[in-house]
Amino acid sequence: MIRNILIFGAQGSGKGTQAELLAQTCGSMNISIGNIFRQEVYKKTPLGIEAKKFTDEGKLVPDDVVNEIVASRLKQKDIQEHGVVLEGYPRNIVQADALEKIISLTDVVVIDISDDEAVNRISKRLTCVCGKTYNTDYNASHVAGICDECGALLFIRDDDKPDAIKHRLETYHKETEPLFLMYEKKGILHRVNGEQKINEVYKAILKALNMETP
Ligand code: AMP
Repeated sequence: MIRNILIFGAQGSGKGTQAELLAQTCGSMNISIGNIFRQEVYKKTPLGIEAKKFTDEGKLVPDDVVNEIVASRLKQKDIQEHGVVLEGYPRNIVQADALEKIISLTDVVVIDISDDEAVNRISKRLTCVCGKTYNTDYNASHVAGICDECGALLFIRDDDKPDAIKHRLETYHKETEPLFLMYEKKGILHRVNGEQKINEVYKAILKALNMETP
């Protein structure tokens, strides 16, 4: 069965890590909109230069830009054939409406953490341009400051700095959380406790989705 799964969670909830694990288990594509923007910013493409004005301050990139990127990616054959685990999108009702028109979702997972935990985790987060993230407390890279996957130098995201974090959490509560009700009404919403170890959160997600631990 092909699954199209959304993962929601506040900043620092581990949604990127869980989405990657889940996509491996499902044999589906893992799309992170935040990673798409980070790579474009790093490569200084026209899209990256435009997006950087928003991402640096923790503001959302305009809906029309994001919707177009997502729509063209989701229509590709690999996603039609294998399904997708989508993370970081939709973040508001305009994006959720646009998504409805492109794919049919089978499951929506919310990874719950408190704001205090989110701030605490993000202050210790290091990111790689390849998309991998580390936490100096519980998920450190083998060599400090170097990505295990690709060997690149890790960095602190501009939008992981205190003022930007505050703004991003406010936007999440105000614009993203109200979407949960819509998915709950469809009977596809699952909530898991994100304040556990990575593998415990993953087990909780698999259980919620009626999937077996690989
Ligand atoms: P993330 O890694 O998901 O926290 O995303 C990093 C940044 O990319 C966000 O702070 C936004 O500036 C931008 N971004 C990611 N996803 C979206 C989206 N769905 N809509 C608008 N901007 C986004």
